Amino acid sequence: MRLLFVLILVGSLAGTACAGVGSTPGGGLKVVTTTTILADLVKNVGGDRVSVTSIAPAGAHVEEYSPKPEDARKVADASVIVVNGLHLDEWVEDLLKNKRPGAVVVTVTDGLAAIDDNPHMWFDAELARKYVERIRDGLIQADAAGRDAYGRAAAAYDAELVKLHDELKRKVAEVPAPRRKLVTSHDAWPYFAKAYGFEIVGFVQPEGDKDPSPSELAALVEKVKRASVPAVFVESQASPKLSEALAKEAGVRNVVADIPTDSLNEKPADTYIGLMRTVMERIVAALR
Ligand SMILES: [Zn+2]
Repeated sequence: MRLLFVLILVGSLAGTACAGVGSTPGGGLKVVTTTTILADLVKNVGGDRVSVTSIAPAGAHVEEYSPKPEDARKVADASVIVVNGLHLDEWVEDLLKNKRPGAVVVTVTDGLAAIDDNPHMWFDAELARKYVERIRDGLIQADAAGRDAYGRAAAAYDAELVKLHDELKRKVAEVPAPRRKLVTSHDAWPYFAKAYGFEIVGFVQPEGDKDPSPSELAALVEKVKRASVPAVFVESQASPKLSEALAKEAGVRNVVADIPTDSLNEKPADTYIGLMRTVMERIVAALR
């Protein structure tokens, strides 16, 4: 009886330890990322050789994240720190003062052609492939003995991203071209729109968490009316109130909530690939 209890206890502790991005304790190369999306990419390249933790948790509004005291400790413990760059996660700059000498900092957007300095490049799976290359190289720099393992895992994951990109393009084809229009919560969509053929009509929050002024909102209502969009999308981390008001004013009946953008979310959006599929499926279902 007592043995059974111990086994159950051990089983449930092991279950806890394995749950979620960033909770992997113990050995391996310690990697810290700013976002859960980056943590998932690192897991796919690093496998068992790494233990990865994201600073901003799943569901977080990354641009508005305020670092906590334990985040400085996470950075101090890390051998590799993976950052998106382009102001998405600029709060990491202060934390980086705590990094240990020789820690490798990988900024995944470095050297990539940005659209208006917008940081949301992972929304084009072809650009996520570039993120993966940079993560692979950073892991090898910190852990040369893992070169072959990282190379193999990165190549296998890259093949999945190529498939994902094709799958997303096929999915868009279900929406008639004049209906491929996006009205969203924040300015997260230029790479997605360019890669998969959408027009961005507008977004509710002109910058970060700030609400639009009444005249900004009125201008957006006019744009949305003129574009006769089929739906308005609300992102997971954003309040739906303004989007609902906008939709009502503009005569759009369909308001689609809970579109994940900057952070992983509940299943099936709990991996990068799952998130991209979820986003595309919800958008296509609402617009077609
Ligand atoms: Zn964002």
